[in-house]
Amino acid sequence: MLNNKIIIELEEIRKMPNPKRKHTPHRRDCRRSANSKLDVPNASKCLNCGVAKMPHKICPGCGFYNGKLVVVKKAKKVEQEQTQQEVGKE
Ligand SMILES: [Zn+2]
Repeated sequence: MLNNKIIIELEEIRKMPNPKRKHTPHRRDCRRSANSKLDVPNASKCLNCGVAKMPHKICPGCGFYNGKLVVVKKAKKVEQEQTQQEVGKE
């Protein structure tokens, strides 16, 4: 009984459609590369300084949102120059 069932299942598997030949590496790689392309994120320009920023987010450059100052940004260049001058004095 059990052997008969297995034989019948094997015959059904043989009847199932199978690919005629192996796909080439080029075809495989093309398929994979098509799915791996990254989308470019939406970016808008800051109205204050013109730096590219994410929409509906505070500008990372100047801290402005919708033309108003929201976050006061520290000037990194000024701090670096001060530290360099201190090192030069010593
Ligand atoms: Zn800005």
